[in-house]
This record gives sequence, C-alpha cells and structure tokens, in this order.
Amino acid sequence: MTKLECSVKNCMHNSDNYCCKSAILVDGNEAVKPNETCCASFDENKGGAFTNLFKTPETRLEVECDAVKCVYNEDRRCAAERIDIAGDGACECGQTRCATFKAR
Ligand code: SF4
Ligand code: SF4
Repeated sequence: MTKLECSVKNCMHNSDNYCCKSAILVDGNEAVKPNETCCASFDENKGGAFTNLFKTPETRLEVECDAVKCVYNEDRRCAAERIDIAGDGACECGQTRCATFKAR
C-alpha cells in the first residue's frame, strides 16, 4: 500500500495532513502533469459540519488511479512507495492534485 500525505486540510477526510479513508481514487486519464490529476475522493468540509470526531488517519492506503500516463501507475493502481496529495483550500476535487505524478 502507498504511504500518503495530504495537505488538503479542508477535505472532510483529512486529519493532521493524513487521509482517513482506507482507499482513494485519483483521476486524470489524460494527465501529463500533476495539476491535471485530482483526488476524486475529495469532499469539502463546509464549516466543519461533517467533521467526524472519531476519524482515524491512515498513513498507508489503497490508491486507485486513472492517471495511466504516470510512471507509478500499474494497472490503474498506484505503485509508488509514497505520494503527496496537494491543494489546500480546494472547493472541488479539480483543485486538488497528486503532486507525485511523473509523466512516463
Ligand atoms: S483530498 Fe483526497 S487524499 Fe486528501 S484527505 Fe481528502 S480524500 Fe484523502
Ligand atoms: S503517483 Fe502517479 S500513479 Fe500514484 S496516485 Fe499519483 S498520479 Fe496516480
């Protein structure tokens, strides 16, 4: 599984720069650079209304990924040892990105 750090602090799944989901999906079928990818599992935390106090940060998780032009993509799964998801302040998933994306 991939070690993941995420700086999208206003995503409702984020806790202390880690993601609390056990699996995420990264989009970017045609992506040739990092900002053409995005975390499709992003959900905006509007005013903390949905903050789950019991959420547990996952340091390693399953990353499904549609960015097939990335060197780390193996059969639509991320094979990188670690990745960084970025885009703090995002209001929609298109404003996030996999900063680790590297074109083949
Ligand atoms: S943006 Fe994606 S990786 Fe980051 S906390 Fe949200 S769901 Fe997890
Ligand atoms: S490093 Fe590449 S394969 Fe892994 S999630 Fe990011 S874009 Fe997808």
